[in-house]
Amino acid sequence: MTPRPFEHDIAGQQVLVTGGAGFIGSNIAAALLDGNDVRVLDDLSSGRRENVPDGAELLVGDVRDEDALDAAMAGVDLVFHEAAVVSVARSTEAPLETTRTNVDATVRVLEQARTEDARVVFASSAAVYGPPAYVPVDESHPKEPTSPYGVSKLAADQYVRLYASLYDVPTVALRYFNAYGPGQPDGDYSGVIRTFVDQATAGEPITVHGDGQQTRDFVHIDDIVRANLRAATTPHVGEAFNVGTGDSVTVSKLAAHIQELAGSDSPIRTSDPRPGDIRHSCAETTDARTKLGFEATVSLADGLETVAGLGPAE
Ligand code: NAD
Repeated sequence: MTPRPFEHDIAGQQVLVTGGAGFIGSNIAAALLDGNDVRVLDDLSSGRRENVPDGAELLVGDVRDEDALDAAMAGVDLVFHEAAVVSVARSTEAPLETTRTNVDATVRVLEQARTEDARVVFASSAAVYGPPAYVPVDESHPKEPTSPYGVSKLAADQYVRLYASLYDVPTVALRYFNAYGPGQPDGDYSGVIRTFVDQATAGEPITVHGDGQQTRDFVHIDDIVRANLRAATTPHVGEAFNVGTGDSVTVSKLAAHIQELAGSDSPIRTSDPRPGDIRHSCAETTDARTKLGFEATVSLADGLETVAGLGPAE
């Protein structure tokens, strides 16, 4: 991975990125390498060794393994906790494993952060809200998650905020909406953008679930990294912030856009709706802007061009 320069004033810190061999974690690790010591804890279950940027130390281990986690947390100042069961489908097959990875290990990270006097920035998710009662969804929207994944992220998000109020651990939860960008993994659980690009470039039908009028707020990886960098220094600890663009697009429009960018002859087909898919999703971004000082800057049109298979460089 070629590190892209991100402006920040984080220096001289011992940083741990759990899940740092994955899509989002590896980009956070790369952004902090200059001026900090960066350590990654990852069991390589979905992440890849080659994603870990040169100069970061990779500890191969499971966040559920207390010895591995404690060793990784030793002496840290700043933790970005990204490791998780990330797939809604997987969480539905394995709720217990999901709880152990997404909740129990998060509490252990927080406990160790208490001992080490470290700050924790946690990868929460828009899945904590469940089906929106209104859009855009603000941070105080009702939380009725519909999958073990969403429930686990909500429990961890609450623990993260509780550790700030109860034990004075500086923590921030970032509720990512739909992340995309270069390096997003392909495969069964990949995001819809990666899936459409793969279908378009392979000349296979681009398959839209349902009528395609469902909407999503796609946020580029560079913006997700920027939000994490803001969370690493904000005085607004003990809070959760949406990380989205505040704009949404229908899945049908997205499919057409990708088809065009890929110069693909693939037809766009509709298929059965996916059970449990929410209809509309869009982040309210006021709190992130006014408190965190974060605003997404990459438009979907520009961001799609950075995805392998779509950009002019390909
Ligand atoms: P990813 O699968 O690319 O990265 C997750 C990483 O965690 C992988 O490298 C994996 O090997 C590692 N991991 C999984 N279980 C582990 C364990 N038990 N011990 C150690 N390492 C483990 O996924 P991502 O998209 O980079 O997601 C990062 C975080 O962001 C996750 O917590 C996810 O729930 C959250 N999130 C992602 C999105 C999105 O759209 N990608 C949206 C909302 C929230």
